[in-house]
Amino acid sequence: MATPLIVATRNPKKRREILEILGDLPLELHDLSEFPQALEVVEDGGTFEANARKKAVETAAALGHWVLGEDSGLVVPALNGRPGVHSARYAGKQGDDAANNARLLAELAPLPDDRRAAYYVSTAALADPTGAVRAVAEGRCHGVILKEFRGQGGFGYDPLFLIPEWHQTFGELSPRVKHALSHRARALEQLRPVLVQIQ
Ligand code: IMP
Repeated sequence: MATPLIVATRNPKKRREILEILGDLPLELHDLSEFPQALEVVEDGGTFEANARKKAVETAAALGHWVLGEDSGLVVPALNGRPGVHSARYAGKQGDDAANNARLLAELAPLPDDRRAAYYVSTAALADPTGAVRAVAEGRCHGVILKEFRGQGGFGYDPLFLIPEWHQTFGELSPRVKHALSHRARALEQLRPVLVQIQ
């Protein structure tokens, strides 16, 4: 019988990406939309890893299942690492992508063009049904922040995030290509050897 694995997210677009990346595993994948009673994990860690661990540990302890916690964000070195762990609520309101993108563009506007390098980070933590962390992995993906939006795909900062080698943003690239290059796929692929063994 396949082992249930709960992905600790309520973000429908992030949820879909994780399910697409891990969908071929012999696991019964679920997410928090199926557990309306599950507690709300407060993302108050100072690092992606701290928040990923917190999501995995608290959710696993509450539900008694294997749980994958993932925390991610955009890092712009020229902005001293912002938006960083605050990526989802950079402009104030949780998950307001349009406002977050507008703030990012405004902060980069005074800087020279060669200071628009950025990278996404994803940290994934796997907790067992007792709430003990069994594996943690980080993935990164490097790009450049454009001055205008390009493409409708992805979510968050994707229409501004250009992959120079592909001459396209994550908003333009297909999910198949994004999943071959992305920070999230790179983090989750490292967990694959552990994920295939859980039961
Ligand atoms: P989290 O739910 O706290 O991990 O929030 C992650 C936030 O980082 C998202 O709301 C986006 O703003 C940003 N982010 C993370 N990964 C991506 C991605 O793949 N594309 C676009 N934005 C992302």
